[in-house]
Amino acid sequence: MTDYALVVPDMTTIRVPTLREISTRVPEVSASDPLRPVERAFRDDPHLRAVAVIGPGDTALLTRLRLETMLSGRLGFGRALLSRARVCDILEEDALRLHAELSLRDAAAEILARGGAEEDVLVVEDDGSPLGIVAVSVVFREVGTVFREVALRDPLTGLPNRRMLDERGADLVAAGVDPERMAVLYIDLDGFKQVNDTLGHKAGDELLLSFAARLARAVRPADLAGRLGGDEFAVLLHDTSEAEASAVADRIVQLALEPFDLGEHHVQLSATVGIAVGTDLAAFTASLTPLDALLQQADAAMLYAKRSGKARTGRPSEPAASGASERRALIRQRLPEAISGDLLRLHYQPKLDLRTGTITSVEALVRWTDPELGAVPAGELVEVAEHTGQIRSLGDWVLRTACAQARAWLDAGHAWSVAINISPLQLAAPGLSAAVLAAIDAAGIPTRLLQVEVTESRAVLDEGLANAELRELEAAGVTVHLDDFGTGYSSLAMLRRLPVSTLKIDQSIVERIDSDQADAELIAGVINAAHILGLSVIAEGVERRTQLERLRTLDCDIVQGYLIGRPESAADVVPLIGGALATL
Ligand code: C2E
Ligand code: MG
Ligand code: MG
Repeated sequence: MTDYALVVPDMTTIRVPTLREISTRVPEVSASDPLRPVERAFRDDPHLRAVAVIGPGDTALLTRLRLETMLSGRLGFGRALLSRARVCDILEEDALRLHAELSLRDAAAEILARGGAEEDVLVVEDDGSPLGIVAVSVVFREVGTVFREVALRDPLTGLPNRRMLDERGADLVAAGVDPERMAVLYIDLDGFKQVNDTLGHKAGDELLLSFAARLARAVRPADLAGRLGGDEFAVLLHDTSEAEASAVADRIVQLALEPFDLGEHHVQLSATVGIAVGTDLAAFTASLTPLDALLQQADAAMLYAKRSGKARTGRPSEPAASGASERRALIRQRLPEAISGDLLRLHYQPKLDLRTGTITSVEALVRWTDPELGAVPAGELVEVAEHTGQIRSLGDWVLRTACAQARAWLDAGHAWSVAINISPLQLAAPGLSAAVLAAIDAAGIPTRLLQVEVTESRAVLDEGLANAELRELEAAGVTVHLDDFGTGYSSLAMLRRLPVSTLKIDQSIVERIDSDQADAELIAGVINAAHILGLSVIAEGVERRTQLERLRTLDCDIVQGYLIGRPESAADVVPLIGGALATL
C-alpha cells in the first residue's frame, strides 16, 4: 500500500530529488590496474554491481554485465587474455556519465536520449571524480513518484486531493479493511466566501492554509485529511465507529471556531461537518465504490446540517440527504432510452496544432439534456454508465456518431480527425479494436480520421489485453492518445511499453504552468522525454494566453482548451475553427 503520511501543509511545491540523493557508492579502481584482481572482486562479492574506474581520461564505470560479456569470449576477448589485460582494455567507449546535481527528471531524459540500455549509470562530481552509481530503473521509478506526488496533492495547502482520497479508499478496501468500519467527514467552512470577498484572496488563502494545518493535526496519522477544493475538506477514517467519527467531527467544529490570525486581521469562522459511516453503506446503490458512496452521503449530510444552522455536525439519516443517490438512479433508468432514441449529442472541441498553426482535429464529448434531469455533465453520465454496465452501449453510440460526423465533414471538404474518449471498462473486454475498425469501415472514412483517447488507470495498465487492442488500432492507423496524463499511474518509463502515439497532459497540471515553477519544470521534462520517445504532446485545459505562450516555448505540439475554443455542436464548431486561426 502507498505511504500516505501527511505532509506539513506549507509544503506546496514538491522538490525533485537529485542523483546525489539516490546514488550508491561503489569501489574505485584505476584504469591501469590489472584486470584479474578486479574480476576476482566481482566473483567474491555477488552483490557488487560495478566499480568506478579512475583513468587518465574521464572517469568510467565497469559493470558486472560488461565484465562478464567481455570475458565470455564471444566478443573476442576471452578468459585467456585475462592475465595480461588491464581494466582500461575492456571499458566501454563513450559511456554515460551523469552529474550528481542533475535532477531525476533531467537524468531520465538523458538516459532516454542515449537509448537507456545500461542497467546502471555512473554519477560524477563537478570535477569528474566518481560519486557512485544509480540504477536506471530507480531513476524512472522516482520520476514517476514525483509526478504522482504533484498530481495527488492540492497545490495551495499541500494536503491530499480528491484523487488521493479515492486511491486511499481503494487501497484500504483492497487491503481487506472492512468498509463498514470506514467513515468520511465532509467539512465546509461557513462564511469563508465573505472573508475572501472583504479581505481579499491572499487573506483567504492564508486562512485555508492555517485551517488545513489545524485539520491535519486533528486526525490520527493513519487517517487522511484532504482538500476537495474551495473551502471544502474531507477526512477519511478507518477502523472506526460512529461514536469515534462523531468525536473527531466535534473536534473539527471546535478547532474551526478558534480565531484565525491573518496579519492585521483576526477572523472568527465556523465549520459544518457531515458524517457518513460505513454502516450506512447498506442503504446505498451497490454500484458506487465505498469512498464515493461515503463522500456523497457525507456531503448530503453536511448540506442538511447547514440548512438547520451552521457550526454543527450532521448525519445522513435525514430524508433530504438522499437526493444524490436518487439522481443517479434516475440517470441509470433514463439512459437506455436516451441512447436508443438518439437523444444524446456530441459536442466537438478543436485542437490547435502549434507546429503548423492549423486545426485539423477535434475531440468529441458527450452531452445530454434530459427533460427531468436537466443537463447531465459528461463526467457524471459516464460514471453512472460505468457502474451500471451501460458504458458499452454508450460507447457504441459515441463511436458511430463520431464516425458519421467525420464522414459529413469530409464530404464538406474538411478532413478533420475526430477523437473519441474510451472508458477503461471498454478496454477491459475484448473486441474494442474490431468494433472501432468496423465503425470506420461502415462510415467509409480513412482510419486516420478517428483517434481514441484512453485514460491511464489500473484497469488499462494491468491488462495485457488492453495493450493488444491498442496495438491493433495503432497498426491500422488509428492513433491512440493517453488522456489525463499525470493524474494517475503513469511513469515516463511506462510510456516505452504502451502503444500510444500521443500524450495528453491533464488540465490540473496545465492549470498551474504559468504560476508554479515546479509544474512548469515537470511539463518541460515530460515534453522533452515524450519527444525523445517519438510521441507528440497535447496540453488540455488551456485557458490563458500566458499558458499558451509558455507551452509554445516548451515545444508542446498541440493545445486544446477554452482559449482555443469550447466544445460546440458540429454546426457551431465549424466557424470557430476558422475564427481561432485568425486570433491565435
Ligand atoms: P476529458 O476527455 O479529459 O475531456 C476534457 C474535459 O475538460 C471536457 O469536459 C471539456 O469540456 C473540459 N475542458 C476543455 N477545455 C477546458 C478548459 O480550457 N478549461 C476547463 N476548465 N475545462 C475544459 P466534459 O465534456 O465535461 O467531459 C469530462 C470527461 O468525461 C472527459 O474528460 C472524459 O473523460 C469524459 N467523457 C466525455 N465524453 C465522453 C464520451 O463520449 N465517452 C467517454 N467514455 N467519456 C467521455
Ligand atoms: Mg479526452
Ligand atoms: Mg483529459
